[in-house]
Amino acid sequence: MKTKVVPDLCISCGVCTELVPEIFFMNDSNIAEAKPGDVPENLENEVRGAAEDCPSNAIIVE
Ligand code: SF4
Repeated sequence: MKTKVVPDLCISCGVCTELVPEIFFMNDSNIAEAKPGDVPENLENEVRGAAEDCPSNAIIVE
């Protein structure tokens, strides 16, 4: 499973970085980004939850 943030949609609320700091971080522009590579299996549910909780639906899971 992979995930990414659509930067134009992110409103920098910090929900995803609080929920799954192993995957999401704020970049220098204060926009969330996902670390590259596959999401570890033990974090897949957390990442799906972050995608659901993102207020601007900026997190894509594939
Ligand atoms: Fe951006 Fe969504 Fe993460 Fe909030 S939850 S920081 S809007 S990607």
